[in-house]
Amino acid sequence: PKCFPPRKFCLRKVAGELGEKECPDGFRVLINNGVDGCQSVYHLHLHVMGGEVLPDTGDLVKPPEDPNEGTIFSKIVAGDIPSTEVYSDDSVYGFKDIAPMAAFHHVFIPKEKNGLSQLRKATDSQKKLLGHILRSAAQNGLKQCPKGFRIFINDGYNAGQTVYHLHMHMVGGEQLALTRVNGADIAD
Ligand code: 5GP
Repeated sequence: PKCFPPRKFCLRKVAGELGEKECPDGFRVLINNGVDGCQSVYHLHLHVMGGEVLPDTGDLVKPPEDPNEGTIFSKIVAGDIPSTEVYSDDSVYGFKDIAPMAAFHHVFIPKEKNGLSQLRKATDSQKKLLGHILRSAAQNGLKQCPKGFRIFINDGYNAGQTVYHLHMHMVGGEQLALTRVNGADIAD
């Protein structure tokens, strides 16, 4: 397994220069926040993990050929499939995950897909949108999970991405487990 602490806090760069290049079959970007999120170093940082099928993956689903292909999340944004809203603005929608992994488990997505099937597909012109989704998720975490939370993004097969419409998970509301790599716990 590979786990890189990238130098620059830029999701777009992390995804393209570390994730996709080093782990073409999939990677996970993870940010631990506060005690419940197992943060130990209080200097904001991203973890990028990959190089094998990661722990806590569900089904393994290959990416679609067409990054603009509709998914269940397009139907959720359109209101064709019901969801429980936790956040909404012009460009971002947040809702409760149907299969929560923790007391709070919310998913944040861009309302317009625009080719964003995976984090690695983000272009420089979408940097601001990525930051906005991340901040929306973090503000929600701060409000719902004041003791800490974790934000993560699954990109691709090895990370267990099942819905190919970029999304950020926010989990918290309880003490989360340490991140595991190859069966072993790793400290933040
Ligand atoms: P991924 O594994 O792709 O990173 O995450 C997809 C997430 O979407 C999963 O946590 C899954 O439970 C959630 N999900 C899938 N289908 C639905 C749905 O129809 N409604 C809601 N609210 N969540 C869903």
